[in-house]
Amino acid sequence: MSVNGIPRGFAIEARELLKSYDNLTAVDKVSFGVNYGEAFGMLGPNGAGKSTILRMIYCRTPLTGGSLSVVGLDVTREPRSIKESVGVVPQDNNLDPDLNVRGNLLIYARYFRIPRNVAEKRADELIEFVELGEKRAARIDTLSGGMKRRLMIARALINNPMILVLDEPTTGLDPHVRIAIWDKLRELRQQGLTILLSTHYMDEAEKLCDRLVIIDRGRILVSGTPRDLIAEHVLHFVLEARGINGRALRHDLTGIISEKRGSTHFYFARTAEMLAPLMREYEDCETYLRHSNLEDVFLRLTDRDHLT
Ligand code: ADP
Repeated sequence: MSVNGIPRGFAIEARELLKSYDNLTAVDKVSFGVNYGEAFGMLGPNGAGKSTILRMIYCRTPLTGGSLSVVGLDVTREPRSIKESVGVVPQDNNLDPDLNVRGNLLIYARYFRIPRNVAEKRADELIEFVELGEKRAARIDTLSGGMKRRLMIARALINNPMILVLDEPTTGLDPHVRIAIWDKLRELRQQGLTILLSTHYMDEAEKLCDRLVIIDRGRILVSGTPRDLIAEHVLHFVLEARGINGRALRHDLTGIISEKRGSTHFYFARTAEMLAPLMREYEDCETYLRHSNLEDVFLRLTDRDHLT
């Protein structure tokens, strides 16, 4: 069933999803839904359970409990069909070093039984899309980290998937390369692809995701659009005062959320004007007035000892 070409229901739906390894609960009864055509992020520190959730989605790891459907199909019953609809960019670039750029795409197409002529056409289109035209015959070990990552994205698209799953797409890449990859992902999202990515970079989640969940220790702490999460948890502006010289944190300010982390005081408010008196009060310290961001949300939600 579809409305205007968009299938009904969720592209991905997890209910009480559970994954345990011996006595460790890696994913602790998480529930979420990813809509068709949206870019959905899982944001969390290392070890939060992000990769484990992704591996269950692309049918690499069995669930311990709960339910999980992808493109309307149950992962435990129809993994083969799901694999046909999902493109995967895992954390490591597991490209075949014995094949060149184009060869890597063609061999991958064979796993999906794509006819040779169709695969060649698709491979050439994808090589252009990820801007590796001049490298089509290059050996894998001559590619930079960013080129390998772009080739991984092209490879994940060879079967024309409905969903692209990326596990930490830009970890370890330099800032220019990260921006280039974000551009490609935005283009794919605009073409209607559903994108699910994990990241521990707050800026990546904020820039790319329509909606996201923040995960910590196998649990979803919050979900929403980056903008709503920021507005709800850390308002719009923050004043950071560093080097506070034993000064006490102010708790008595109406409409202002205050927080101490290490030797820095943070004051969150809806407007910059509300923070102006505090700037004067802290004029002997290093102060920064800036927009609140997802990192502030994350730290407020996870750093419980310092909540006010
Ligand atoms: P993230 O992707 O957020 O960094 P992971 O999903 O990789 O987190 O890991 C979540 C937790 O599960 C971690 O404590 C990790 O050590 C554990 N874990 C992941 N895979 C395995 C495995 N195959 N066997 C045992 N423990 C695992």
